[in-house]
Amino acid sequence: MARYTDPVCRLCRAEGQKLFLKGERCLTPKCAVERRPYVPGMHGPKGGFKRKVSDYNRQLREKQKARRIYGVMERQFRRYFSTASRAKGLTGATLLTLLESRLDNVVYRLGFADSRAQARQLVRHGHFAVNNQKTDIPSFLVKPGDVVAVRDSSRNNVYFKGLGEYLHDRSTPAWLSRDTAGMSGRVIELPGRLDIDAQLNEQLIVEFYSR
Ligand code: SF4
Repeated sequence: MARYTDPVCRLCRAEGQKLFLKGERCLTPKCAVERRPYVPGMHGPKGGFKRKVSDYNRQLREKQKARRIYGVMERQFRRYFSTASRAKGLTGATLLTLLESRLDNVVYRLGFADSRAQARQLVRHGHFAVNNQKTDIPSFLVKPGDVVAVRDSSRNNVYFKGLGEYLHDRSTPAWLSRDTAGMSGRVIELPGRLDIDAQLNEQLIVEFYSR
């Protein structure tokens, strides 16, 4: 499966803002956006985060930002957009709901991982079950009522054993409920636009694909 393998901090610097792709490190002074506040490349230091501001450029950047935040490749992102545009309701909001419903995002939102990238890896390694069924596909879309849990065979894993103390400090959004002791979480409902805290202007993404 294709995935981005270059340093992810470059992605934040390319967008001129923190995308929070590295968990705790993003909240420390080690964050590359704080240390090198300019776009990557040889001309970066002169121009800071300034970019051309054509309509097309703003739409493109917003689409790229969404892809990068959720770690989705172009082809899959386009598929999400196509599904959202065929669904009832606002296309942009539906697109964000689809992205938030991915299993890797749910694992991250439940606090079982420090970042979506880590959540994706944990899912791929088969540590999670959805409704008691092992599910190792990060793009699996959850539904209301689904229960996402750390599998019994993974609970003695060093990572999950050490996770307990951190979980109490990690909050979950209102559309999910977590059973910290049971290492599981339930999807109460699919998230609406107000439940999604990603700083994205989804209308620009719709405009990008509607050109
Ligand atoms: Fe982005 Fe986090 Fe890297 Fe900062 S530390 S540049 S927020 S991925």
